[in-house]
Amino acid sequence: MYKLSGVTKNYQKGRGTVAALRGIDLVIEDGEWLAVQGPTGHGKSTLLQILGGLDRPSAGIVDFDGRDLAQLRETEVTKVRAESIGFVFQTFNLIPTLSAQENVEAALVPLHVSGAARRQRAQIALEAVGLGDRLRHVPGELSGGQQQRVAVARALVKEPKVLLADEPTGNLDEDTRDDIIGLLETMWRERGLTMVLVTHDSSIARRAQRIGIMKNGRLTFRQPRPGRAQPARPGARTATAQAEPALAASDADLQPPDMPVYADADLTDLHEPGPADLAEPDLTDLDDTDLDDSDLDDSDLDDPDLDDSGSLDEPDSFADSDSEPADTVRFD
Ligand code: ADP
Ligand code: MG
Repeated sequence: MYKLSGVTKNYQKGRGTVAALRGIDLVIEDGEWLAVQGPTGHGKSTLLQILGGLDRPSAGIVDFDGRDLAQLRETEVTKVRAESIGFVFQTFNLIPTLSAQENVEAALVPLHVSGAARRQRAQIALEAVGLGDRLRHVPGELSGGQQQRVAVARALVKEPKVLLADEPTGNLDEDTRDDIIGLLETMWRERGLTMVLVTHDSSIARRAQRIGIMKNGRLTFRQPRPGRAQPARPGARTATAQAEPALAASDADLQPPDMPVYADADLTDLHEPGPADLAEPDLTDLDDTDLDDSDLDDSDLDDPDLDDSGSLDEPDSFADSDSEPADTVRFD
């Protein structure tokens, strides 16, 4: 589905440059479920936006089904995105004045689906996520978990090849989190989706077939431990494989080599978001705390590629780029 070669992304920040991605080589097979973990500010969302054609790399090739998203004209990328790529964000990104039904229908507008067909498909998509009785509710009348279900329906109503989810459970409580991940897993399995899920929650990442660790703009993979079963690949669009977590790494596997190793229980506890995270999820240091990234020492922060202050500050515009509805975002 994807073949990335030498993908870099530099952002201008003040007079300095932030190297968000530093040469990513990555193949994602049709029907694969890849989880991406890593501390805040290390390039996970940037990678997802480039996979989704929401942003372009500074250099490198982003081959999506044989076409380089980095080189396609903007109108063509917009078309690929509208037809083939569904997004789910941490903050749901529903349009507050539209009903659940209308929010889902909105994904079909760029595809020139007739009004009647739009209504019918949106209704079916909402029924598939268990919200058949909430069609006319606006987001403010729905719980967080229900809003994220609407967002999943909006992402999937166009029957995309790919689902990209950026911390989709970051704003949800534990029970709702499990519901949403269960829903995504079901959709992945039943629809043969290729799914890339960014999460800092190890218990979620472990359900994927493969886990990448994004750190300082570089992506690494844990090798399965010797003797472990290899995963059954679900295959292209004909997925029959179960979500066999054969390749899912343990927390010990997930630590980059120089990171401390924690027992599962410790990490699980640390993953619970606090009120501060719910208020400003993308601006907290939760991820850093979670992964206890104690090796991200001053020398890392002094990296000359980072901004003037040498810090890994969140971008000013990051929240903006995350909050755009996927189908309306344009390249600058
Ligand atoms: P993550 O999702 O892992 O938290 P991001 O991909 O959002 O990380 O950010 C990676 C780095 O790129 C960070 O240092 C961040 O400050 C910077 N960055 C991301 N988006 C922008 C942007 N639009 N403008 C400037 N810097 C950005
Ligand atoms: Mg992010």
